[in-house]
Amino acid sequence: MPRILIAECKQEVSSFNPVPSRYEDFRVVRGAALLDHHRGGGEEVSGALSIFDADRSVQLVPTFGASSNTSGGVLAADSFERLSRDFLGSLADVGPVDAAYFSMHGAMQAENEDDPEGFLLQEARRLLGEKLPFVVSLDLHGVLTDRMLEHSDAVVAYHTYPHVDFFQTGARAASLLMKILTRGVRPVTARVKIPALVRGDELITESGAIRECIQLAQQIEASDAGLSAGVMWGNPFTDVPELRTNSFVVMDGDETAAREHAVELANRFWRHHEKMQVPLTSLIDAARLASEVQTGTVVMMDAADATSSGASGDSNAIVRELRRHNYHGRVLAPIVDPAAVRQAFAAGIGATIRTTVGGAFDPARFQPLPIEAQVRLLSDGKFRSESFGWPWDSGPTAVLQADNITLVVGTRPVSLFDRSWFYAHGQDPRRFDVVVVKSPHCEPHMFANWCAKLINVDAPGSTSANLRSLGHTQCARPIFPLDSAIDFHAVAQIFHR
Ligand SMILES: [Zn+2]
Repeated sequence: MPRILIAECKQEVSSFNPVPSRYEDFRVVRGAALLDHHRGGGEEVSGALSIFDADRSVQLVPTFGASSNTSGGVLAADSFERLSRDFLGSLADVGPVDAAYFSMHGAMQAENEDDPEGFLLQEARRLLGEKLPFVVSLDLHGVLTDRMLEHSDAVVAYHTYPHVDFFQTGARAASLLMKILTRGVRPVTARVKIPALVRGDELITESGAIRECIQLAQQIEASDAGLSAGVMWGNPFTDVPELRTNSFVVMDGDETAAREHAVELANRFWRHHEKMQVPLTSLIDAARLASEVQTGTVVMMDAADATSSGASGDSNAIVRELRRHNYHGRVLAPIVDPAAVRQAFAAGIGATIRTTVGGAFDPARFQPLPIEAQVRLLSDGKFRSESFGWPWDSGPTAVLQADNITLVVGTRPVSLFDRSWFYAHGQDPRRFDVVVVKSPHCEPHMFANWCAKLINVDAPGSTSANLRSLGHTQCARPIFPLDSAIDFHAVAQIFHR
């Protein structure tokens, strides 16, 4: 009866968000509650459980699960100390186990640790032993470090963007772990470092240039000796020494095949990398273009303040520009500003307040914008996500009406890659002339399929697709697009235990 340990630690940060994230920003579950939380759910651990539960001989050893409620800034040092103490402490006294599955994101950074996942795996290895098989599932936006590869037997990464395969990725990781336990497969990993930071529509796995890479990875993974394969292009905003794109292939014992496949994946990716940027429209041009549209909704994508990528959510740049432009259409915009929300709650529904919105967290980029607004709705900010049904919480939240501009104003950032925050606060994006969407992409049916015009706006922000504007100082150089004329020769490095 194999005893399989399960642990989880997931967070994605933007190093350019000035607000540190904290332990309190995580959903934490311990022991058996980890299983209760995920059974019947849609995340990676849920997918892994679907495999483990199907094998009656498996005995599960749930330990600790932490997942940040939304992305944010670099994790504060004392918060990471507490998190790693809790995580590793839960592994220390589980008794003998035969294998371990770790659900991680990969794009964490703490003030005192540039590779938190690598650290946790290294320490888990020290606690649990050199021989124990470890399989780790990761987001393809994770930063795949040497230490993560050295201390795991295999990694498994998402194959979709926008992500829809959380469950399947966990199931793939669990199946791989079972193959190691029951069939004695011997994973060997080849990894190729690709000096590129990429964004944009070509990374949409259904339709973009990345599709042929992902399809190849899936073919490799499905082949006789294939165990796992993928391309992880990392979160370009997690500015750590090992930030870059990686291809990786895990084969059963066949180092030569792993090497060849990883090189082929990397070369395929490199052929397209120059396309993997976002053509952006300046704020001034975006406001002008919006004014020219007579009917239908203009969607203004503000990926620079994408809370799901780690931004602070307090940008008012597009609203400010539309006001400066005397734009008269109906505008719907999300923003985080705790002081404005407090003022709205104090005044009550129907009252008119004079306040400011914007710049609450990132004052170097955004200056407070004075508004006079009517309080139209107040809520506790708890709602379910349109995409996955997950519970999200923006804290106390107000809908403010400032002339033609409707603002959904929250106390803390929530993910904005779908419409749920608008819907939860009575706002249907189709009823507006301009909608500000703080996400790099959304599922097409949410906006792109029906809007009159979609504009990728070059606004300031800590997750700007204009990567050169951010000021990376940590990632290895040269790297595209921060540097020019990069020579690339795919070289595979081998990892096995
Ligand atoms: Zn991701």
